Amino acid sequence: MFAQPDRAGFLPLAQLPALVARLMALGYQCLGPVVEQGAVVMRALESPDDLPRGLQAEQAPGHYRLTSDPHKRYFAWANGPQAIKPLTFAPQESLWRVERDDAGGLQFAAVTPPVARQAIIGVRACDLAALALQDAHFLREGRRDPHYAQRREQLFLVAVQCAVPAATCFCASTGDGPTPTAGYDLALAELADGFVAAAGSDRGEAVLNALNLAPATAQQIEAARQQGQSAAAAQTRSLPSRNLRDSLMNQLEHPRWDDVAARCLACGNCTAVCPTCFCHAEADAPALDGATSRHERIWDSCFVEGHGHLHGFNVRPDIRTRYRQWLTHKLATWHDQFGRSGCVGCGRCIAWCPVGIDLTEEVAALTAGGPP
Ligand code: SF4
Ligand code: SF4
Repeated sequence: MFAQPDRAGFLPLAQLPALVARLMALGYQCLGPVVEQGAVVMRALESPDDLPRGLQAEQAPGHYRLTSDPHKRYFAWANGPQAIKPLTFAPQESLWRVERDDAGGLQFAAVTPPVARQAIIGVRACDLAALALQDAHFLREGRRDPHYAQRREQLFLVAVQCAVPAATCFCASTGDGPTPTAGYDLALAELADGFVAAAGSDRGEAVLNALNLAPATAQQIEAARQQGQSAAAAQTRSLPSRNLRDSLMNQLEHPRWDDVAARCLACGNCTAVCPTCFCHAEADAPALDGATSRHERIWDSCFVEGHGHLHGFNVRPDIRTRYRQWLTHKLATWHDQFGRSGCVGCGRCIAWCPVGIDLTEEVAALTAGGPP
């Protein structure tokens, strides 16, 4: 259950727009689920009444279709192709610009445009876990990324418990869901007539206090707890709960890498949708008159051939070595970097892989012999 269930309030269904209105009144641009090109994405809400009801997402390897939730819940869709990552780690942005001064010298300037305060409504537990990993990368001591940091500081996170996980979800096995336990400002668990609502920060508490909610009853809190347990039990996919570092690093010549390479298109979809992937490329974009140039950062992928180029040769010349790099970084060497696996069990890489490659199946095949 949430971090402080004993201090939770109860937000009746009809009052959900009041929560959004409160956040808007505080100056937040509110982002919530919006259907775009057949998928749920986080976009700015025009008004507090814009949150859609009754959306559900059917997901399977290589498959994502919106369906209808017969109970008309607000948050019955498990997740869409993206959540927080593009809002903090921009797909493309200028890091700095350089221009020639009158004396012919070069003047460098940081490019840090002002960012809006953003409240995201409907963040999932897996997304919060992924954000904590992105924080560990972009905000690490001595290497704080100013672009990421300024957007991260402006976020207000309204998390929701997943009551209807997709068939691709396995956050229960990675320990990251389906109920949010940390990293949110507010957390909601949707019941038939309203939401158990708990604060996870002082500003979250201030928002809840302004709504004058009645305390959640013991029955409501118990119903939310049971809902989380049922959602965890409904997940059919899993990763082994043990640290897979040695199991995978001892299998670098396993024939399964050839098998998956024969299916993988090296399209990079899995890295684009993965909420923890942070690889990027940098390039200069000079103006045609030669007077100025912008230094751009663009999302990159270990599946792109150029990502493996090192001074005259390519360390990952084929799809076998690129897929192996992705999986062994995500699930093995991530432990060396960040003290945990880089997978939060969101299942996006499974649903959005055009050929339906399922990392839980690949891991099962690669580690079939058990721990090393
Ligand atoms: S590896 Fe796949 S399931 Fe794990 S966090 Fe990334 S996209 Fe989600
Ligand atoms: S595993 Fe799937 S999504 Fe990832 S690069 Fe290969 S084909 Fe694309």
